[in-house]
Amino acid sequence: MPKKIAIYPGSFDPITYGHIDIIKRASMLFDEVVVAVARNLGKTPLFSEAERVAMIREAIRELPTVSVDSFQGLLVDYARSMGAQAVIRGLRAVSDFEYELQMALVNRKLDEHMITVFLMPHEKYSYLNSSIVKELVRFNGDVSSFVPPHVEENLLQKMRKP
Ligand code: ADP
Repeated sequence: MPKKIAIYPGSFDPITYGHIDIIKRASMLFDEVVVAVARNLGKTPLFSEAERVAMIREAIRELPTVSVDSFQGLLVDYARSMGAQAVIRGLRAVSDFEYELQMALVNRKLDEHMITVFLMPHEKYSYLNSSIVKELVRFNGDVSSFVPPHVEENLLQKMRKP
C-alpha cells in the first residue's frame, strides 16, 4: 500500500492554534501531512515565506509525521509532485463554504483524482484567523490563547520594527 499523503496548503501568516488543530486531525487520518506555504497569493503577507515556514516548523516539532514546505504555481501540480492523494482545508463556518467549494471543484476539474478533505476545528477556534490575530497584536490585545508563544513573540517583534 502506498503511503497516504495529504497537503495542507495556506498562507499561514502566521500559523495559529486553529491551523494546528487541523494539522493534528489530519495527521490522525494520513501517514504523512505536508503543511505547504503558498508563495503566490494575491495578498501581501506580514511575514516572509522563510519566517512563516520557520514558525510552522517550530509548531509541528512534536508531530513526527508532519513536515513543512512551500510551493508556487498550481496546488494540484504541487500535490501530484509530492505523491499526495489529498488536500486538507479547514472549514470554520458557513462563510468559508462558498470559496472552499469553488476551490475544491476547480481542483477536482484540474485533477479528478485529487480529493479535498474538509476538517472542522474545535469550536473554540472557529472564529479565529491570522488577520484577527494580527489586528489584536497591533492594538496590544492578548493573543496567547490563539497562537503558540514563539508566534506571539514573532508578532510582537514585527510590530515593534515592521
Ligand atoms: P488561505 O489564504 O489559503 O485561506 P489561511 O492560512 O488563511 O490560508 O488558511 C489555510 C487553511 O486553514 C484554510 O483552509 C482555512 O480555512 C484554514 N483555517 C484558517 N484558520 C483556521 C481555524 N481557526 N480553524 C480551522 N481552519 C482554519
